[in-house]
Amino acid sequence: MVMATTTAKARKFRGEIFIAEDRCKECGFCIEFCPPKVLEFSVKFNRHGYHPPILVNEDGCTGCDLCGLYCPDFAIYGIRVPTTTTTAGRPSEDQGAARDTQEELSTAQEADRN
Ligand code: SF4
Ligand code: SF4
Repeated sequence: MVMATTTAKARKFRGEIFIAEDRCKECGFCIEFCPPKVLEFSVKFNRHGYHPPILVNEDGCTGCDLCGLYCPDFAIYGIRVPTTTTTAGRPSEDQGAARDTQEELSTAQEADRN
């Protein structure tokens, strides 16, 4: 019998999610449809009295953004961030883009409050 040997494949991307907690209405779609099941309801409440989702397994998120596609309130989305850095040791452009999108979400959430 030949045994197949598996070597851990280095992941080129990791998943990262962004949650605008106060937009969440606790419908659970993101949790239900997340393929690797890495989301759960948080025990804390948002300002409307709902439990927003939290990521319970950071390494398990693939950044597929199905949570974002199913969320009816645009309260969550996922992105893929390269795990590599540039030769100069600086984060790649995509990682910079990830920061930009988080800032956009924070700005939108702030606008919701006003
Ligand atoms: S990006 Fe994909 S894997 Fe990550 S939490 Fe959302 S649905 Fe789950
Ligand atoms: S799909 Fe959106 S509104 Fe529903 S629980 Fe997830 S984040 Fe909240």
